[in-house]
Amino acid sequence: MKKDFIPYGRHQISEEDIQSVVNTLKSSHITQGSSVPEFEKNISKKVSSKYSICVNSATSALHLACLALEVSKGDIVWTTPISFVASANCALYCGAKIDFVDINPLSGLVNVDNLEFKLEEAIKKNKLPKVFIPVHLAGTSCDMERIYDLSKKYGFSIIEDASHAIGGTYKGKPVGCCDYSSITVFSFHPVKIITSAEGGAATTNDSKIAENLKMLRSHGITKEENKFISKKLGSWYYEQQSLGFNYRMNDLQASLGLSQLKRLDIIVKERNRQLNFYKKIFSELPVSFLDTPPFVYSSVHLAIIRLNNQVSNKYFDVFEGLINSDIGVQLHYFPIYRNPFYKKFNFNYQDFPGAEDYAARSLSIPLFPGLSSNQQLRVKETFEKLLK
Ligand SMILES: *Cc1c(COP(=O)(O)O)cnc(C)c1O
Repeated sequence: MKKDFIPYGRHQISEEDIQSVVNTLKSSHITQGSSVPEFEKNISKKVSSKYSICVNSATSALHLACLALEVSKGDIVWTTPISFVASANCALYCGAKIDFVDINPLSGLVNVDNLEFKLEEAIKKNKLPKVFIPVHLAGTSCDMERIYDLSKKYGFSIIEDASHAIGGTYKGKPVGCCDYSSITVFSFHPVKIITSAEGGAATTNDSKIAENLKMLRSHGITKEENKFISKKLGSWYYEQQSLGFNYRMNDLQASLGLSQLKRLDIIVKERNRQLNFYKKIFSELPVSFLDTPPFVYSSVHLAIIRLNNQVSNKYFDVFEGLINSDIGVQLHYFPIYRNPFYKKFNFNYQDFPGAEDYAARSLSIPLFPGLSSNQQLRVKETFEKLLK
């Protein structure tokens, strides 16, 4: 990587973060000590959820969330096509079928009118989804109140894929509070808002779901006497009660996450500041940034730009030109159904005009704590040249 290469996103590690991990390294437990439960307690406090369950990735959290909602063979799960593949793969892990609801290309978020229309069609064919997974793209919450109302009317559960959205709010409430969902999932991968160098969490207010998630992340095993099905045979005793996995987060990861979580508000504020600066310096160019609804405070995981009609044919040149100028742009995301693995499901691209339009002219430009105003200006100047 060149010295003046600007990535689209990167982690920020402070001296306190390093000290926090070192302290854990020097302690008696580096895997299952006190850091994971403490991280969980602090996440719950931050996002106003009753329970938090940390795991080794958001992908694992999505998988376990589907299992905890009893998604299995014969069930249908819906999500949106403009997301990371993990939002859809979790349904397939459980043997369920996956289908997509189109997005609004101006926000990148689920188009709730499309959702309602698709539900109305599905009820006629007896093909309603068991779970819908709205994706808070770029850290901007979907319209959860409307989605929640539809879930009551049509009888499905909601898992929020908030991998991008920790630190954001919806109608004044923190994303993750689960007022409008059964489970919310966060990612702590290094490009996300805060990191544990791989890691994820599921939040919920349902004690049964929380218990289930905890068991499933550790082989389906419980060591708690009051939950035993059979007789306790000795002090060594534990029971495997379901087929779980080793999806645990370790204490090194949690101690990094704990330290990063303390800076969450500052990080999100800085991300919003950088996005607003971009909006100002790009205001004369024929581009727009993704819409943020008025009732949402976005955590601004990504700065996604959309080329206006008159320049959308320059998408390829702009994208490759930025890369060749050492500016790390990225498409978040290529529609999931267009991946070779998804070809066998025979999705019809024409069913998703919003996603198709979005993917043909949107790109993420660099945004992360530590990006300087000069670097932001360099992105804008290069962009401007390439548009000419
Ligand atoms: C990053 C991401 C995931 C997966 O997160 P991991 O922690 O890397 O497993 C899932 N969904 C979305 C929308 C993501 O951006």
